[in-house]
Amino acid sequence: MTSLTFYGGVNEIGGNKILLQDKDTKVFLDFGKSFSRRASYFEEYLNPRTSNGIVDFLTMGLVPNIKGAYRDDLMTMAGRKPEEPDIDAVLLTHAHADHADYISFLHEDIPVHMGAGCHLILKALAERAQRNIEKEILDYKPRPYNAKDEPITRKINEFRTGDKFKIGSLEVEPIHVDHSVPSAYGFIIYTSEGPIAYTGDIRLHGTHPEMTQDFIEKAKEVKPIALISEGTRISDKETQESEKKVYEESKKTVSETSNLVFADFNFKDVDRLMTFFNIAKETGRKFVVKMNDAFFLKHLSQDKHLNVPNIDDEDIIIYLPKRGSGQYSDKDYKGKDREFLDMHNTWTAEQIAQRPDKVLCAIGFYSFTALIDMQLKSGARYIHSSSEPYNEEQKLSKERLDAWINHFGMHKFQSHCSGHARGQDLLDAVKEIGAKMLYPVHTEHPDAYKKVAKNMTIVEEGRRYDL
Ligand SMILES: [Zn+2]
Ligand SMILES: [Zn+2]
Repeated sequence: MTSLTFYGGVNEIGGNKILLQDKDTKVFLDFGKSFSRRASYFEEYLNPRTSNGIVDFLTMGLVPNIKGAYRDDLMTMAGRKPEEPDIDAVLLTHAHADHADYISFLHEDIPVHMGAGCHLILKALAERAQRNIEKEILDYKPRPYNAKDEPITRKINEFRTGDKFKIGSLEVEPIHVDHSVPSAYGFIIYTSEGPIAYTGDIRLHGTHPEMTQDFIEKAKEVKPIALISEGTRISDKETQESEKKVYEESKKTVSETSNLVFADFNFKDVDRLMTFFNIAKETGRKFVVKMNDAFFLKHLSQDKHLNVPNIDDEDIIIYLPKRGSGQYSDKDYKGKDREFLDMHNTWTAEQIAQRPDKVLCAIGFYSFTALIDMQLKSGARYIHSSSEPYNEEQKLSKERLDAWINHFGMHKFQSHCSGHARGQDLLDAVKEIGAKMLYPVHTEHPDAYKKVAKNMTIVEEGRRYDL
């Protein structure tokens, strides 16, 4: 007997937690954090209490109340006996928080399968930020927390596209897809009732649409009994965007000026990172990154497939922010940041400002106090290369950003393309694959698939669907 139960990603964008059961084998497809559900109860100064372990998360429904899933230390804190793990594995599609982060709570003996590149990204994310109970994917410290405790490492199994592996009665085939983070995968899973396909997050207008095509073709070929498809932008009408367009627009913006240029984008989006890195090189500018993002370069440059430059690349400059004494004294930099101090390519804001036509600053809004140290004169350019604000918090943040732009007389440009497939591309993909049954996830408009899917299930959370 084979079944699917959806514990997240239902009528919401992200938070995917899909339980696939086949005979005695149970695997979760992603175990992500639901931002919308979390934000319906919590905000900046009201958060689930780390001191209460998993209890606040369970009570408020941020993680499903299921047996044999969670860490021994968290169960003990919750007044429950530690439970034998009853999940055989997690299959992680990619490193985004809405798919990966709540693996943090899962039992230490449940192995997690992920792409080799995905593993590198999670290592970079762990190194650049403080430990946090909602982001302990690769390792965790048992609670109650003691700083001296050694972290407990999870069992991570890396895969690459084309690999096949067995978990109990299942055989899993990961296939690369294009998305706004590298090392993203869809899965074809061979169950005892027939193959099922899961898209993860996909798009067809990025740098590598052929990867998503590979997934669609393979899924079509196996004639799946079930297709679990993302539908983030299913009702979106935008058709013109592409990574190539971002490259062309932004290259024009940079090459037209001999003034300072700032580019603001999400560093995990390696396609975008490479778009701006290449623009910098082609326009005779060095690419300035902040220390925090240098961790991404350090880890991702290890994967030759990605072509990401390392921190000591001749075209990379690391921005050294003013701290402590305000004198850029060695003593002002602590911990991991110290490794960047003695590098020949670490520059202060003042040094960057002296070479306005020789740098492309990818330091982002959160480093804008650098503009004060640069004594920025009007006429600099700022390229906003992320999505427009869609909630109240982001709108306020945009007003603040605009205030900085106006204060320093900068010119603002917008250039972006989404990490998710256009509505029509999704409809075409689902039609092409032609699965026996469609289960839309990761969308607020699952019914929009009715146009192309004869048999589809509008999923209800926590309900078991037999295949
Ligand atoms: Zn997602
Ligand atoms: Zn994603």
